[in-house]
Amino acid sequence: MYRRNIKHILIPLAAGLALVIGYNLFLRPVLPPPTVQHAETVEPVAPPPAPPRSRSPENEVNSARVLDQSMVPPNPHEDLLEAIRDEIEKHNLSLAETKLKNLPPAVLSNATSKSFVAILWNNLGLQQERLTGTQASVKAFKRAADLDDSNPVILMNLAHAYWEQRDRAMNAEFLIKLMKVAPGEPFPHLAMADLLQEQDQLQEAAKHLDQAVDRARHDPGLQSYLAAVTTKVRRTQSVESRMAAKSSTHFVVKFDGEEDQSTWISALEILEDSYREIGQKFSHFPSKPIMVILHAKDSFQGATGSPAWADGLYDPALGRIQIPTQGATTDRKWLASVLRHEYVHALLHDRFGASSSALPTWLNEGLAMQLAGDAWPELDQAMNGDVTVIPLTSLEGSWGALPASASTLAYAEANSATGYLIERWGMARVNELLNALQAKASVAAALQNKLFISYEQFHRQWLESFEGRRS
Ligand SMILES: [Zn+2]
Repeated sequence: MYRRNIKHILIPLAAGLALVIGYNLFLRPVLPPPTVQHAETVEPVAPPPAPPRSRSPENEVNSARVLDQSMVPPNPHEDLLEAIRDEIEKHNLSLAETKLKNLPPAVLSNATSKSFVAILWNNLGLQQERLTGTQASVKAFKRAADLDDSNPVILMNLAHAYWEQRDRAMNAEFLIKLMKVAPGEPFPHLAMADLLQEQDQLQEAAKHLDQAVDRARHDPGLQSYLAAVTTKVRRTQSVESRMAAKSSTHFVVKFDGEEDQSTWISALEILEDSYREIGQKFSHFPSKPIMVILHAKDSFQGATGSPAWADGLYDPALGRIQIPTQGATTDRKWLASVLRHEYVHALLHDRFGASSSALPTWLNEGLAMQLAGDAWPELDQAMNGDVTVIPLTSLEGSWGALPASASTLAYAEANSATGYLIERWGMARVNELLNALQAKASVAAALQNKLFISYEQFHRQWLESFEGRRS
């Protein structure tokens, strides 16, 4: 009786995934950045490129995730099931949950009533999710899937919750089952590609990305986006297939070009130190090893597609830190600063997971700069004495479209504003701010609720403190 058409859930889900494996590179400019000559001529900041999104309206998406519960199958406990259904419809969720948990086992001995109980758990999960997010719904969807693992809507709802919660239960076994139950859909292949990328099995990941592209025909935007990510994964796979790797507990470091043992060992030491020290500051330690590629200086740009001014990058699409080195002459202090900067990006990406787009770029870059301990020029040097700032609200999205002169200013502002944030409130409060952003609060709401200051006040007081320091 329930609806089998699940196209509408899969599109936004896939778009959400594509966002995570998205294109926004986190770069670290060469130090010191070139001085901006005329800050007042800074062009208006272009909006970040729109991520691929489903064109389905929100209510359509939700209705496709709900299962039809109007027909209670005839059985001796019909009244009980009807009562639970009515509680769900009246939004008495904890009562419905208690009643579902206390159903007599006899109800589940009949296959039709068992599937119906699965439907009730699914619909309860959706109501819980609306109120408190996937943290609450994942348990209900899990119960539903335990009762009926052949229902594509239930399994997709569970996959959605697993994905948002970064639940390790979304493993290969679960995804293979999902592919069987929903064979025409791109999401299971996208999620599998992500899992394989984590395990550095890029060739296999690219195959699943191809399959996702084949299944995304109903959304040409998503399809071409995925095709671009696939190309990138394939290129990286071919570049890295000839590299040697050295591992420590939490990192895998690969060398592209002539191997230099001492740089290699230095890099691992710096990274393990960063893991402990920066991890403590953020109270977060990545759950899986992080890949770091040390490129020969002249091949860095070609291999990573980064601009000439970058001297390191974190690529969330591939989950890799990429750094140009100069073999045995690599400066250790420089190496530490670049690796620490990119490690902060990698850690924040791991912490934010599916909500990565909720972290404003100015804070992401600012934290990387502050915690790398870079000797950055002060904001006023970057602005050459001029005080025309780019509003932080314009620096929340991708910086990819910023002209070179504006990007220097953007980094200087991010560093200065984040420095002010840490100095005034301390790292523990900044962590609370990050928690709020992770729970999808806007920057304004997170500042208001966690630091009791409006975005405008914060902006003004930051600039005043900076002005005060100048005079
Ligand atoms: Zn950066």
